[in-house]
Amino acid sequence: MKLANRIQTVEGSKTARFIPLLEDLKRQGRPVISLAIGEPAYDTPAPVIDATKRALDRQETRYSDMAGLSDLRAALAGRFDGCRPENIVVFNGSKQALYAIFQTICDPGDEVIIPLPCWVSFAEQVKLAGGEPVFVHTKDHQLNVDAITAAVTDSTRAILINSPNNPTGAVYPRQDLARIARLAMDHNLFLVSDEAYDFFVYDNRHCTSLFDLEAVRDRLIVTRSFSKHYAMTGFRVGYAVAPVDVAAAMVRLQSHLTGNVCTFVQHGALAALEMDDGLLIQRRADLQRKRDLAFEHVSGLFPCIRPQGAFYLFPDVSGHLNRGETSGDFAARILEKTEVAVVPGEDFGMDGHVRICFAAPEDQLLDAFKRIRGAL
Ligand code: GLU
Repeated sequence: MKLANRIQTVEGSKTARFIPLLEDLKRQGRPVISLAIGEPAYDTPAPVIDATKRALDRQETRYSDMAGLSDLRAALAGRFDGCRPENIVVFNGSKQALYAIFQTICDPGDEVIIPLPCWVSFAEQVKLAGGEPVFVHTKDHQLNVDAITAAVTDSTRAILINSPNNPTGAVYPRQDLARIARLAMDHNLFLVSDEAYDFFVYDNRHCTSLFDLEAVRDRLIVTRSFSKHYAMTGFRVGYAVAPVDVAAAMVRLQSHLTGNVCTFVQHGALAALEMDDGLLIQRRADLQRKRDLAFEHVSGLFPCIRPQGAFYLFPDVSGHLNRGETSGDFAARILEKTEVAVVPGEDFGMDGHVRICFAAPEDQLLDAFKRIRGAL
């Protein structure tokens, strides 16, 4: 039977595919080290686990508000100046929030400008909404605002910004974000800001959010996540902060999609917000140390720009590609020879690179780099 064109033209997630692939290899007894999936190797904090268990014990197992638990939305709204719970929608991870955003703002043929390289799901989500991704290359992983300006057409609906960036770890300076904000206002565009890694910024650097630029808040939709900061990837909780009419439209979509996000899990998310920042600060320091360690090893092998945030390195491996080889072939060769999994840059729209996640345990990081060095 023929499937809908919509799904035939959409590719499965090129990062998520590593989850079953690596599980399978481990089941076969292969000593695989994953530096592929963007997942921090920390425990979920005890207060989150306890609050989730307590919610289960209280039978918080029923349907709940499709926009998210009111206490959770109130706590989230409190973190964004001038926001009310009506500005917040809780989703099954910020991945689903981004899907809902494009469904809500894109008509068929609408263009969404996406700086490259970019996370694997953005373009597919835009396409699923009938929109067209328009890619603009970054310069040394930083925004090329002139090129983004030149890419705006009568069909442009939105500009997507992802800082700290996955896969490069770049953090965009306030002046560039201010220029993007001006551009969006001049052309009446939405701004979508994926801030899944906003706390994980290193060297005492401040991460400017587009939300800090007050003038754009009526056209800005921010997504953030509990996954990375609180090591809650399997909980699937993220959220969007949006103008009230956009948020209400997304809740209408949610009402036909999943209904509420798992009720007892949202109690765990609320407990995460009630924790002080001590654990996050400690984890950020640990990640900075791992960033330094990983950067030292990787830059001894390949040219690499030092990441300022998130937990990825995105080295240029083109000098190690055999004739005709892509970064996908290179990553496959490294996996085959060394049992170390990394994600090909071509999956993020930038061949000649690979993405290396450094949020792994330190002994695994060191072992992985030793194996890769040996193979090269
Ligand atoms: N966001 C993570 C990554 O880039 C997890 C997998 C996914 O959802 O893409 O690896």
